[in-house]
Amino acid sequence: MGRFNTVYNEIGNLNSSELKSIADRIFELLQQVEDSTEESFQESQIVTCRKCESSQIAKFGKDKNGKQRYRCRSCGCTFTSTSFSAFAHSHCAPDVWKKYIPLLLSRCSLEKCASECGISVRTAFLWRHKILGLLQRDQENRFMSGIVEADDMFFSVSYKGNHTKSKKFVMPREAFKRGTDNAGKLGSKACVMCAVERKGHVYGEVLGIGAANCDMLAYAFGDRLLEDTIVVADKAHSTKKYFDGTNIELVQTAAHTISKDNTSPPEIKGVYHLQNVNNLHRRFRTFMRNYNGVATKYLNNYVNLYIWLENHKKEKNIDFANELYNSIKLSGSYLRVEDIINVPPIPCVA
Ligand SMILES: [Zn+2]
Repeated sequence: MGRFNTVYNEIGNLNSSELKSIADRIFELLQQVEDSTEESFQESQIVTCRKCESSQIAKFGKDKNGKQRYRCRSCGCTFTSTSFSAFAHSHCAPDVWKKYIPLLLSRCSLEKCASECGISVRTAFLWRHKILGLLQRDQENRFMSGIVEADDMFFSVSYKGNHTKSKKFVMPREAFKRGTDNAGKLGSKACVMCAVERKGHVYGEVLGIGAANCDMLAYAFGDRLLEDTIVVADKAHSTKKYFDGTNIELVQTAAHTISKDNTSPPEIKGVYHLQNVNNLHRRFRTFMRNYNGVATKYLNNYVNLYIWLENHKKEKNIDFANELYNSIKLSGSYLRVEDIINVPPIPCVA
């Protein structure tokens, strides 16, 4: 700091033309720093192998686009700054992805994303799911404790996207006639488990079809809840059965349904209620209205995005687009086109 103070104090003794040339020099230096930030940020991440995390790496020529390649002396793999990131194998520069992300977050149509970024609609679709699929990791290692409200919500199953070009796919049910009422048939709907920690974090994931059974609950909560957790849930049998077999305390409260004339408000047992998770459900349904009915095979990706937004919205001055860009750039892995196309029509975790 000594040198800084000297310069700072000495500047006060300069005349106006000297000050002006100092100011010009400062702007010039700032511009250089800004111009180099993008590249140096990418390159500065390369301190370990992007595959095995060994620090025994060495420069290994350039790839066909002139990008620096590295080789790991431990595992032998070669990589660039975008290997094992969402942009791996992308023909587009990271800048195009950077342009795409705000459009994704604004929930723009694939057509609009495609035309604004100069990519095809199919690429816009694949990028959407490459990015949203990776957001699943944001929920891993997010433990919950204290009072946690847990409740499932249901979405009609859509086999959209499975029919064309697939020789194997056979529609597993009769097509619904337009206008028929499928409400109330939980056994044939996709179950999205949600949990809200009173301390702030939320969780959400597609578990399968029908109400959550013990296996699904074990998948969702087995490693997620710390020992001091008190789970508040509705009076489902399987919930009681599952939590009886754990050392997590369970408080069951009546289901959250409010009758149409609003005469029976949700049951509230002091602090043990499901209002926060029900509000989350309501906000998620509103969020999903922007997408005109998504295929069940991709429903979890939209859950990922929504939960990611919820978990980051309390951070002060957060720039969501930048945050998302950096997180997929440093994702450590990527989804291949096959990983996206070949998702089973009905996801089932257990
Ligand atoms: Zn390695």
